[in-house]
Amino acid sequence: MTLTNTEQFSVRRSRADHSADDHSLAGVLPLPLPPGGHFIGGSFVPGSSTQLIDVVDPTTEQVIASVQAGTAADVDSAVDAAVAAQKSWGVTTPKERSEVLNLIANIIEANREAFEIIESANTGKPRTVAEDDVSSTIDTFRFMAGASRTLTSMAGGDYASGHTSVILREPVGVVGVITPWNYPLLMAAWKIAPILAAGNSIVLKPSEQTPLSTLKLAELVAGRIPDGILNVVTGQGRTVGQRLADHPDIALVALTGSVVSGQAVAETAAKSVKRVHLELGGKAPVVVFPDADLRAAAAGVRNAGFWNAGQDCGAACRVLVHESVAEEFTEHLVREVSTLVVGAPGAGNDVEIGPMISHPHFERVQESLAEAKAAGLNVAIGGSALEGPGYFIEPTVISHVPAGAPIATQEIFGPVVTVETFSSTEEAVTRANESPYGLSASVWTRDSGLSLSVPKQLDFGTVWVNSHLVLACEVPWGGFKGSGYGRDLSLYALDDYSRTKHVMINHSA
Ligand code: NAD
Repeated sequence: MTLTNTEQFSVRRSRADHSADDHSLAGVLPLPLPPGGHFIGGSFVPGSSTQLIDVVDPTTEQVIASVQAGTAADVDSAVDAAVAAQKSWGVTTPKERSEVLNLIANIIEANREAFEIIESANTGKPRTVAEDDVSSTIDTFRFMAGASRTLTSMAGGDYASGHTSVILREPVGVVGVITPWNYPLLMAAWKIAPILAAGNSIVLKPSEQTPLSTLKLAELVAGRIPDGILNVVTGQGRTVGQRLADHPDIALVALTGSVVSGQAVAETAAKSVKRVHLELGGKAPVVVFPDADLRAAAAGVRNAGFWNAGQDCGAACRVLVHESVAEEFTEHLVREVSTLVVGAPGAGNDVEIGPMISHPHFERVQESLAEAKAAGLNVAIGGSALEGPGYFIEPTVISHVPAGAPIATQEIFGPVVTVETFSSTEEAVTRANESPYGLSASVWTRDSGLSLSVPKQLDFGTVWVNSHLVLACEVPWGGFKGSGYGRDLSLYALDDYSRTKHVMINHSA
């Protein structure tokens, strides 16, 4: 089914388009911006360069702030502060560290509106998404505060005659962290919470496009947590990010971002045999079997494929549906997608789709759509950019997509869902696994056998059954193959950010 390309979605560009009593940035301006400068050793300091980076609101295309373009020298100062702080932080007890993490959670909770406003202004994301990000951020700190007190290691014992072994769990030291723009505060929290909980200190580089909420966090925790355990250096990946990967006093570098950035970090880190933790891109298949609740599957894709305007590494963006129900499923999906409301965060509580983060990204998504159209693919709904200002793309479904089409294999990272068909379970599994990515997938079926046998055959770090994009702090998040390695969230993240030491005591003498 193809809807005509007119009046498919509601588009709200400003409060004037909408009379409901809604959240609005307009009512709370000026923005509660953090101070400029890098956050090093517990306070904001000027950078060693006078160069600045503009921070743009993607709904208006206006510059809303500017931050320091950090240098290798700025990273070096931050690492010095982190090394000094880690000496005392690393020997605190789990209870003491947990109190600091709970304090950070309380500080964020007490300032949640400021975080939501900043995050929406910097990314253009709807307030509902920003609210969810902040709630999840708070929960991440609370979870890690508790989880870090439960950590155990292998029991000690006598494994060689006359010798007793003790297994110690230690922090790794200073951790370099590099975060992306799609969930700036939440992705920072996924790193900061377990890394501090495990007794390490941090030098963090936020995305140059979205540094504001991370700097706000630094401003609000300054003087309330030990100086130097959390340092923030703003700047570009090729300078600040690369120095983090290269610095000899950094023991581990953790990056959430694209595959290309992950490869660059791993390559640099290899020179100092640094540990690397990579959460990279994804292209999640959504496998819909003929017995599935097709309405539920379509509603699931509406939410999980278009959340955060599809700028989500786990987005439900690649549907593989059994050929016998493809037409019916696509009709449900198109109907669902036609109810999405596109607009600026201040334009109404019902806005669900914001803009692409930047002009270059906006252009990339448009190029992918143009390529799909030029290849004759069927645009079932959407398919174009909206008129500016702002980097808005219509929520799009492309159906009847042939196997191997670029739009169904490359990460688009926008509000674009493709629909392919399969004819057997074996084909569904093979096609789903035919991807360089291995972050997440979902399976939709009412068959209890398929609900276990298919996930076991899928090469993805998370597989949902009759659901998609539901996360919890207790369970790990991370990929296989090109999506990277290492785990965020859960006790597994605490494992990744600590090291074990074996002490063997000879008492036979
Ligand atoms: P990006 O790779 O462009 O940037 C991410 C971070 O890496 C930024 O801070 C950037 O400055 C830095 N960086 C870039 N080049 C670098 C280099 N050579 N050395 C060191 N650092 C460098 O990614 P993005 O566009 O900000 O985010 C989108 C990507 O992130 C998507 O591919 C998405 O799938 C991925 N992502 C993955 C997860 C996950 O959990 N797996 C979560 C969110 C986003």
